[in-house]
Amino acid sequence: MKTVLVTGCSSGIGRATALEFRRREWTVYATARDPYDLTDLADAGCETDTLDVTSQSDVDRVVDRIVESEGRIDCLVNNAGYGQFGPIEDVPISRVHAQFDVNVYGPHRLTRAVLPHMRERGEGTIVNVSSTAGRLASPMMGVYAGSKHALEAMSDALRAEVDSFGVDVVLVEPGPVKTPFGDRAMEMLDDLPRSDGYEDLYHIQRDTNVMGGGGGTFGVRPDAVAETIVDAANVADPAARYPVGDIAKLGVLGRYLPDRIRDRLFDLVRWVMS
Ligand code: NAD
Repeated sequence: MKTVLVTGCSSGIGRATALEFRRREWTVYATARDPYDLTDLADAGCETDTLDVTSQSDVDRVVDRIVESEGRIDCLVNNAGYGQFGPIEDVPISRVHAQFDVNVYGPHRLTRAVLPHMRERGEGTIVNVSSTAGRLASPMMGVYAGSKHALEAMSDALRAEVDSFGVDVVLVEPGPVKTPFGDRAMEMLDDLPRSDGYEDLYHIQRDTNVMGGGGGTFGVRPDAVAETIVDAANVADPAARYPVGDIAKLGVLGRYLPDRIRDRLFDLVRWVMS
């Protein structure tokens, strides 16, 4: 049986991914910061463990446990993450550090821990859960988009570095997904120190959520993202990127607009919505 390690399984995409791998008869190591959140995944047949992606000792302990018990890690899913939204000016540097610690350094810690084992066996897949925000940065999402852009850049470099060892690197790029992500992002937005001048953007983000951030009318179900992740882990030659949902497919195209036109579009949305 193939073995997968999934981070951030307390809720949303991580939980759905653990269950989908289990349904397809993989040995699943579902992890989260709080193991009590994982009892139903344990009941469903997953192995569970405590893993905060900002803790090097957690990462080393869990990877060592899997290698010792299973002798292999076929797939790593770097899913854990959250959205620090807000105007760039209002996000304190400590919050930027925290955002990158989870969304960028977390996947980096895990990748460094699993790669020696994957290279030794000459196979493996690393799936990094990015976002449309990893391709397109919109107002109020600069810090989050910065973290996902960094994840995308590191994944692109890594893919070329490890291809010859038989290791695949895949980016999954959902648009809005119906998970607790959006509510958590709004909580983190609400306690930012606000400077003058961005009231309209706060209004748009808080009241209409038009610029993204989890769920809403257009959100896809986490199962759709989970299926994409598990499909990518099960094919011999996966694509580099998998946008998930119509918004994601459309959003990625926004990256190719000339900068001036994209900026004008953001201005237009700001003017119409405020
Ligand atoms: P979610 O909030 O339900 O799940 C995120 C999980 O990450 C939670 O279980 C949380 O506890 C965990 N987490 C946060 N910090 C952690 C840490 N330090 N160590 C370990 N776990 C930690 O939201 P989700 O939508 O399932 O998000 C999963 C991934 O999908 C994230 O990387 C997110 O950026 C990405 N994503 C979400 C959306 C969306 O609209 N929901 C869209 C695009 C991308």
